[in-house]
Amino acid sequence: MPEPVPPQAELLHRGAAALSAADPELARLLDAEVVLQHATLAMVASTSIADPSVLAAAGAALSNVTAEGYPGARYHPGASQFDLVERLAVERAKQAFGAAYANVQPHSCSSANQAVLAALVRPGGTILALDLDSGGHLTHGSPASVTGMYYRAVHYGLDDEGRIDYEQVAALAEEHRPSVLIAGTSAHPRTLDFARFRAIADSVGAYLVADISHIAGLVAAGEHPTPIDLAHATTTSTYKQLGGPRGGLILIGREHATPGPDGRTPLSRLMQRAVFPLSQGTPSPAAIAAKARALALVAEPAFKETMRLVVDNAAALADSLTALGHRVLTGGTDNHMVLIDLTGRPMTGVIAERALEECGILANRNRVPDDTRPPLVTSGLRLGTNILAQRGMGPAGMRSCAALLHRVLEATVVRGEREYVLDAGERDAVRAGVAELCARYPLPLGPVSGVLDGPVSAVPAVFGLRAGEVP
Ligand SMILES: *Cc1c(COP(=O)(O)O)cnc(C)c1O
Repeated sequence: MPEPVPPQAELLHRGAAALSAADPELARLLDAEVVLQHATLAMVASTSIADPSVLAAAGAALSNVTAEGYPGARYHPGASQFDLVERLAVERAKQAFGAAYANVQPHSCSSANQAVLAALVRPGGTILALDLDSGGHLTHGSPASVTGMYYRAVHYGLDDEGRIDYEQVAALAEEHRPSVLIAGTSAHPRTLDFARFRAIADSVGAYLVADISHIAGLVAAGEHPTPIDLAHATTTSTYKQLGGPRGGLILIGREHATPGPDGRTPLSRLMQRAVFPLSQGTPSPAAIAAKARALALVAEPAFKETMRLVVDNAAALADSLTALGHRVLTGGTDNHMVLIDLTGRPMTGVIAERALEECGILANRNRVPDDTRPPLVTSGLRLGTNILAQRGMGPAGMRSCAALLHRVLEATVVRGEREYVLDAGERDAVRAGVAELCARYPLPLGPVSGVLDGPVSAVPAVFGLRAGEVP
């Protein structure tokens, strides 16, 4: 007798087959995405590749469970398996980060930040965080975010070397007495000094919130100092560096029993309420299963090795780009990220992004300090090494990537803030180089038949781009 197929695996298999048969229009788009991911050098700093087992967990029938509340205290019946899954995810999150408390329900780091701020700051209260143009995040009180509408946001910036200006942080804290000080960035290539942030928070009686959305993998692997016991709450995304599904986490270490603003309620209890019912409804059970799976992988030695490579690769990338004449912000990097400053050059962030994408290299435009160009144009390019390290590429591969990137920018004639002409011969040559690297360092998704059988230029449809045009 053949081994019976486990029901969840059978369901996923049948579902995928039915999708292809019954909805070829959608299936084709999803298939093309697999090809695209294999055939591009993704250097978008906020991404990682989810293991196929993570993707499978995210597609589990567990998704059909509706269950407000927390394990053992749900507002709906039928959550017995989900309770076990959520408890497993919580245990693994605590384990991965050495935390005493974890909430695995936030639908994103943005929702995690909103929940934490709602718990710790009264409406109209003051928060102190890094300025968006200096590498901060929208949810840290930007006027474009609900956090900027409901709180009085004060922003600190960078010093002359592009590092966090801790003296300014301390001075602004003293002047504005914020309820919350946020330590966390979306575009900053240097190590954050969480102990120094904590000392500043303590000096004015503020809670310290660490947002490690971008560097969670480095923190879990010990490649960046951990804020877990220094911050009153730590938030993160699960997809940027953890190889997880879309989603967020709230973690607390030593401060889990510290009272909240009411002087009574422990921070852990406060965070439970802050997520549900204060800011979210039902959790996403399959996403929580996928978080549990990703967090198990984070605990494996291979993850630590990958994170080591992420850091080594970023340093190699920064060195190579500098040697090729590019201005790298702060002169280098400590983490996974390299920021190129295009200020004062005809090249803009959006043109660099588009010209590179035409060639199969993905990196996103980014504002730089004192950027004078509009937010959709920008004067910076942000690169990250998460996915290239996951592909097994090392510093030598990074030098090849830097050379390809340089070649694209050299071959791009800028005609305006958004208009450019990319030399077709150079484009094809770079595409061939990209295809060669992609074939040599395949994605850690296992073999996918029919993918990468030919050069990238043979699948231009998957790029979906028209040359020289910025939408
Ligand atoms: C990306 C990011 C977020 C938002 O994460 P989502 O999970 O996409 O909502 C929050 N904070 C920082 C610092 C980020 O970089």
